Amino acid sequence: MAKDFAKSFYNSQAWVNVRNSFFIEKLGMCERCSNPGEIVHHKIYITPDNINDPNITLSKNNLELLCRTCHNLEHEGTSSTRQGIVFNSNGDIVEVGVNE
Ligand SMILES: [Zn+2]
Ligand SMILES: [Zn+2]
Repeated sequence: MAKDFAKSFYNSQAWVNVRNSFFIEKLGMCERCSNPGEIVHHKIYITPDNINDPNITLSKNNLELLCRTCHNLEHEGTSSTRQGIVFNSNGDIVEVGVNE
């Protein structure tokens, strides 16, 4: 399934630490609309090619704190999620497979 490659990364202590401190630095506010931020988004999307590159995955220069609406807009171009696509607690897109 898509995004399986990222699961261990999102469960890593390194990511949790960066995510939490980034959230605090941004005062918990969405950087685009100042609503409460929920999701730490990677400006350069994580792919299987860059998942092991901390300059992409753990660099605060590549992070953006977003609310759910802005995050949906970023990824989907719409405020509602497409059928079959959900966001996990890290705010990243998970495709819901027919077998899951
Ligand atoms: Zn927002
Ligand atoms: Zn994102």
